[in-house]
Amino acid sequence: MTYVSSEVLTVKSQGLWELVGNTPLVRLKSFEKPGVKLYAKCEMFNPGGSIKDRPALRIILDAIKSGKLTKEKKLLDATSGNTGVAYSMLAASLGYGVVMVSPANISPIKLAKMKAFGAEVILTDPLEGMDGAIDRAREIYETSPEKYFYADQYSNPANPRAHYESTGPEIWKQTKGLITHFVAGVGTSGTLQGTAAFLREKNPRLTVVEVQPESEFHGIEGLKHMASAYRPQIYREDVADMRIFVETEKAVAAAEKLMLVEGVAAGYSGGAALTAALELIEQIDEGVVVVILPDSLSNHISGGGHRR
Ligand code: PMP
Repeated sequence: MTYVSSEVLTVKSQGLWELVGNTPLVRLKSFEKPGVKLYAKCEMFNPGGSIKDRPALRIILDAIKSGKLTKEKKLLDATSGNTGVAYSMLAASLGYGVVMVSPANISPIKLAKMKAFGAEVILTDPLEGMDGAIDRAREIYETSPEKYFYADQYSNPANPRAHYESTGPEIWKQTKGLITHFVAGVGTSGTLQGTAAFLREKNPRLTVVEVQPESEFHGIEGLKHMASAYRPQIYREDVADMRIFVETEKAVAAAEKLMLVEGVAAGYSGGAALTAALELIEQIDEGVVVVILPDSLSNHISGGGHRR
């Protein structure tokens, strides 16, 4: 077998981490009305399967650069799953170890993915939700700070900055600057904050719509009901022009419909964002609406498939 040096290959690659971002924008014609166009930013096309690849990569690269993450330390964070998959995949690609803390009721598929990428996963009481996982991650860090880089996606400014530098510019370019309304759910709120900040700089008249679960006890994985949970340090209430609260059942139904009528398989937080986008569309006469679909339905279903 002849040895082929990377210089002779036509594809220049440093590793998988380079594939994060540059996701497609897909038109959702079935949900439009005259005068209003609707596009979905399909974040399930990231290599780790979700939008969280973007902040995870920015957080890791910044920490390596500043010396906070070294080969002797493990990356530690609390995650509802997608960030954990992203950290685990990217850390494997870059040669670092990770410890993830998640509520025990996270999607079994995300748990299996984190473990398959080599992560150590610590599970916390599902009744305590994400706040329980955050408390445990803090405890672990405070007990042995020398062993970990605590990434803290809820407070780390690299999270919104990842979206300011990638998600926002991509949407601006893909819509040729015609976007009028931006719709996204909030978990850490990094997506909404960073993307909206960039798009607003380009178009100060942009309308930003924030999507939250309707109540404290909900089944929309990845989203936070801000009034009843720890408020992420990076969250700014005044970024959104409108706030729409969505019931879990409606989010699930919208994800199911999206798959049937457009062939797009989004997770339930995407279903929630779509539900909000449709409520918005009812209220406007013209515009170009962009909705974020953070991950794929395949993260949430296994074996049995849909309810249908
Ligand atoms: N949807 C899903 C499926 C997620 O995992 C997350 C991240 N928690 C979000 C939406 C919300 O994204 P952000 O943290 O950027 O607000």
